[in-house]
Amino acid sequence: MGDDGTRRESGSVADNLTAVRGRIAAAAQAAGRAPDSVTLVAVGKSHPRAAIEAAIGVGQRVFGENRVQEAHGKFPPLRTAFPDLALHLIGPLQSNKVRDAVALFDVIETVDRPKLARALATEMARTGRRPACFVQINTGEEEQKAGVVPREADAFIALARDELGLPIIGLMCIPPVDEEPAMHFALLAKIAARNGMPALSMGMSGDYETAIRFGATHVRVGTAIFGPRPAPV
Ligand SMILES: *Cc1c(COP(=O)(O)O)cnc(C)c1O
Repeated sequence: MGDDGTRRESGSVADNLTAVRGRIAAAAQAAGRAPDSVTLVAVGKSHPRAAIEAAIGVGQRVFGENRVQEAHGKFPPLRTAFPDLALHLIGPLQSNKVRDAVALFDVIETVDRPKLARALATEMARTGRRPACFVQINTGEEEQKAGVVPREADAFIALARDELGLPIIGLMCIPPVDEEPAMHFALLAKIAARNGMPALSMGMSGDYETAIRFGATHVRVGTAIFGPRPAPV
């Protein structure tokens, strides 16, 4: 919105959340879907706890963080105060952080290699705690990016879900920044459908409406809610 004196680009977290929720509902409706078929994962990475609290204050309960250590510093006090929070890990998970991740997160969106899948299975068996998991697919087959390449997706899902028994509920992707995201969303939806996966985590601030058109059940939105991230130190 703009010059007419109504809401600006970088308003308060509460205003931004209202706007994003409205756009999610409109995109779902336009796609013939129920608005509540899309879960908004608010990505507060590198923003302080106060920003998360502002979102909680207007009813947001699902959050995403991309680093185990940062989430560890921010969320335990919030969880105590708000036991209904759901925390998603959306960044790469090192095998040596699996213990912390299983203890802290409700959903792990970045399962992407056999060693990690085995470590998660072992830790879940040890603790009895079983966070829902997504398999991350590297739809753009980018060298530097995490995720299973599409041609190996079916075999990896078979290993993680069927052989190791991980609670895999869906697939997640981060399209290449310089490509039209729609084709990546369509590819992710296709791999999910043929593997009987109900959940699709795709779409960020710049493209979540497109993702909803292609069937996203989870959109991960940071900047459009919390504003630009402070530069990392
Ligand atoms: C940071 C991040 C997001 C949110 O990105 P925005 O463009 O700020 O909405 C979503 N998904 C992942 C995996 C991220 O790391």
